[in-house]
Amino acid sequence: MEKDTLVKALAYNSEVRVIVCHNTESVNEAIRRHDTWPTATSVLGKVLTMGQIMGAMLKNNQALTLKLNGNGPLGNIIVDANASGDARGYVDFPHINFVGNGGLLDAMGIGQDGFLDVIKDLKMKDLFTSSIAITGDIARDFTYYFMESEQTHTAIILAIQVDVDNTCLVSGGLLIQLLPNATEDTIRFLEKALTNLPNPSTLFMKTNEEVLQTLFASSYEIIETQPIQFACHCSKDQFARSLITLGVDELLAMKQEDHKIDITCHYCNEHYHFTEDDIDTLIKEINDGKAK
Ligand SMILES: [Zn+2]
Repeated sequence: MEKDTLVKALAYNSEVRVIVCHNTESVNEAIRRHDTWPTATSVLGKVLTMGQIMGAMLKNNQALTLKLNGNGPLGNIIVDANASGDARGYVDFPHINFVGNGGLLDAMGIGQDGFLDVIKDLKMKDLFTSSIAITGDIARDFTYYFMESEQTHTAIILAIQVDVDNTCLVSGGLLIQLLPNATEDTIRFLEKALTNLPNPSTLFMKTNEEVLQTLFASSYEIIETQPIQFACHCSKDQFARSLITLGVDELLAMKQEDHKIDITCHYCNEHYHFTEDDIDTLIKEINDGKAK
């Protein structure tokens, strides 16, 4: 299996921006961490793909959060991603599987009555949040998001194939955006190229470069290739910081009642255990005035 990679390219005389990625390993890591069943895998995997693609559109230390909730059985679908290719995410209810016609299953899991929130941390004073109503068709909903919130014509193709043993065989994503200088001719070429594409799961059997060649023959230029991965940067220390914000009384109460504190990271399902001694250390830190 080739490593998860994302390629940024420009096509048709730099009139078209393209991002193509394969993230099969990221999806398999999500399955391993969250024990997602196939419909949950398909939905979480595709939103992870969008996170990695949109993360690649950010700069340096910027980051974003994607939150979908369509009032369906999966509950919230949350993905965090950054410009370094790291994405992490979860669904509230991972044990969801529907059998039947491929395209409709995602919508059955997500639900069709709710919102996609895109929250961008561009390392400015405030976060940027956009919210759009969703249909449960992930590629279509993100296409609409780009049109509504970023005024950009975008084509998105997402594919995931889950094997009978509940592992991901192939996962990939393709985003194509018309840049403001795109000519009528380019738009026509692109429409034709998109119509002639093989179906999504066959398309992503190809490598990133083969996908670009299939679409643009030789009229493209690769700008950057970067590794992408499922990665959560949580730590015991980070959870200790948030426990400290609870204050002495609350920590003492937890110590007396349970003699320990167990925390699970939603994003990666990693467990953190705080013993009575750990709790005492936190309380001491608050009392010493080291923590805010
Ligand atoms: Zn974590």
